Amino acid sequence: MLSKKIYVLFLLILIVCSFSFFTINAKHKPLSNKIIFLDPGHGGLDPGSTYKNIYEKDINLKICFELKKQLEKKGAKVFMTRYGDYDLSSNNVRARKRSDLTNRAKIINKSDADMYISIHLNATQSSTWKGIQVFYDDVNQENKNIAKHFQKELNSYLKTNRSYSEIKGMLFNRQVKVPGILIEVGFLSNPNDRYLLRQDSYQIKLATNITKSLINYYNG
Ligand SMILES: [Zn+2]
Repeated sequence: MLSKKIYVLFLLILIVCSFSFFTINAKHKPLSNKIIFLDPGHGGLDPGSTYKNIYEKDINLKICFELKKQLEKKGAKVFMTRYGDYDLSSNNVRARKRSDLTNRAKIINKSDADMYISIHLNATQSSTWKGIQVFYDDVNQENKNIAKHFQKELNSYLKTNRSYSEIKGMLFNRQVKVPGILIEVGFLSNPNDRYLLRQDSYQIKLATNITKSLINYYNG
């Protein structure tokens, strides 16, 4: 009789402990069932936007590494299209850029990713344009909602006021079937953005807020 009571008590403790574990895990690891593919724009021979000796490709990669770290802390499984200064073009192709973008899209499509996020820097002739801007391609129905959500959240965290926008005819975004967005995290052509984008502290701030926006997107 006593052993039966102990058994029931033990079972109850086990149920309570498992429940607490799942509750704590859901709170601290809200992305634990998600796979995210990060795409640092450009690389290798393709520097992206440049300003003197500052290359977009390098900043994109640094932000993605920080973002990977932050997303993993929240439980996500994270992959990247590149982990160093190279592009993904196939050997001996003439249309190097096209090949690079197609191969990036291919590896994302082959994965079980829930979302992809491409990181780029903007640049214009005028130095007055600034701020973070989210782009989407309507190839996937979910993309517009993701872009709208991220732009709203990021504007409020980073005190910017740009609007999300549709991009048409961008080969990479057209080819990726997984839901996702392209974030131009700032303007290399704007002195203030250019200063911020090179600071470790601002790169961490960007990664933290993109992670927060992602968690909120999945939590509705
Ligand atoms: Zn770019």
